[in-house]
Amino acid sequence: MATPRFTAILLAAGSGSRSGAAVPKQYRALAGASVLAHSARALLDHPLVDAVLLMVAPGGEAAARAALGDLADRLRIAEGGETRRVSVRNALELLAGEAPDHIPSHILVHDSARPGLSAPVIDRLAAALADGAGAAMPVLPVVDTLVSAEEAAAGDVVDRAALRRVQTPQAFAFDVLLAAHRQWAGADEPTDDAQMARTLGHAVRLVEGDPALEKITLPGDHERMEHLFAANLVSRTGLGFDVHRLEPGAELWLAGVHIPHSHGLAGHSDADVAIHALVDALLGALAEGDIGSHFPPSDPQWRGAPSERFLAFAVERVAARGGIIDHVDVTIICEAPRIGPHRDAMRARLAAIMALPLDRVSLKATTTERLGLTGRGEGIAAQAVASVRLPS
Ligand code: MG
Repeated sequence: MATPRFTAILLAAGSGSRSGAAVPKQYRALAGASVLAHSARALLDHPLVDAVLLMVAPGGEAAARAALGDLADRLRIAEGGETRRVSVRNALELLAGEAPDHIPSHILVHDSARPGLSAPVIDRLAAALADGAGAAMPVLPVVDTLVSAEEAAAGDVVDRAALRRVQTPQAFAFDVLLAAHRQWAGADEPTDDAQMARTLGHAVRLVEGDPALEKITLPGDHERMEHLFAANLVSRTGLGFDVHRLEPGAELWLAGVHIPHSHGLAGHSDADVAIHALVDALLGALAEGDIGSHFPPSDPQWRGAPSERFLAFAVERVAARGGIIDHVDVTIICEAPRIGPHRDAMRARLAAIMALPLDRVSLKATTTERLGLTGRGEGIAAQAVASVRLPS
């Protein structure tokens, strides 16, 4: 058989009560994007996946869209049900109701709480179906010694050689999985779809899983996954520099804080030179141009605009690239006003705009010993560096 093409059913309807987090685990931030976004992107970017159908809890579409960001436009969202099985059934019936030439030939079913999905796992599943299997799933060997927890046999070693740990995505011929769901009459809720295909007598082909595909289930799993994702990020450094002219009577904004002073800064927007340098540092780390290329001074809509909007934009760009801002350091260069009395407020303001802890935001000030344009009080300069980690 030719290599199958898939429609993926992505399950995000669970409340994730076992993971100990207040937010459902699939919506938590992980390395610059939500857990759900990582799972969705892995499916959407795979060349054998034609479409993704995301199943959310009833009333959960808005939360899912927020967690997906730009990716929300690339997939279809529908409501799941009380249990995993009902959510998959709803998805299958939705797809079965399509026009005949739109009904998928093959299906992947994936748990969104497994964000570490890599392309080779999907390739192995596709190869198994191409080889004639009606169903396939990724598994890992059990390496720990297993013992019984039943009272009568507590501590008895269970033979692990014949056991495997089951992961998702699981792959099926569409007709096989649809029939399994329509005919399901088991008393107990199945924990996955392969069990249902097996119940109907279909062989399920086992392919090699991936340790990175572990499910976020218990407290601590999320943090372990963060470390795993962080190992795939590379550090980037961006540098920003800016100068604005001082004019009598103008408002003075520095690092998002209004400072009473005889002079203020003139120029683009509110002329917050410290934020402008910081925005250029962040854009520099992304290699995505500079503040002027995103917010041209010639565009009247930016006249007098609060510069914190530009900073929020740069922070969003880092998130959209799946990055993390590790640290920023801003230096303001002027003779007057004195920055010291405002420094804590400026740091706090920058940290708030960037949603970063205070210890990852540094703000310093210096003079130029009355030399040069800043020394003569003609303007204020600022420079900034940003340390960002991005997916390699
Ligand atoms: Mg500027």
